[in-house]
Amino acid sequence: MAEKTIFTRIIDGEIPGNFVYQDEHCVAIRDINPAAPVHVLVIPRKPIPSIADLAPEDHAVAGHLLMVVKKVAEQEGVAKSGYRVVINAGDQGGQTVPHLHIHILGGKQLYGHGTA
Ligand code: 5GP
Repeated sequence: MAEKTIFTRIIDGEIPGNFVYQDEHCVAIRDINPAAPVHVLVIPRKPIPSIADLAPEDHAVAGHLLMVVKKVAEQEGVAKSGYRVVINAGDQGGQTVPHLHIHILGGKQLYGHGTA
């Protein structure tokens, strides 16, 4: 069996995570190394390695993740002030955890479209 990702280990309760949202398809946790006052990761329970690995059967969960981003942004109080949504994919995209996740960044003024 493939080794569990760090996010699956958090989802399974093997290591601690600061959960801000959970449902049957995904969870949202605070990033351990926040880059902004609000930095939450929305993660599917299914360990899809990256956006590049989305399969046709993932259509519903992929859409669901965006709906959860909207909900978590409201919950975190940044929906009106604005926020950034980031998905890193693969090596050159800067992805470090091979389990699809969406970053929600907010609570401060952000400029440009990334750290490049
Ligand atoms: P990536 O670079 O893959 O897009 O983002 C991975 C993110 O996961 C990073 O922002 C990193 O700080 C976060 N991260 C890595 N390990 C852990 C962990 O054990 N717990 C939490 N909450 N976040 C983590």
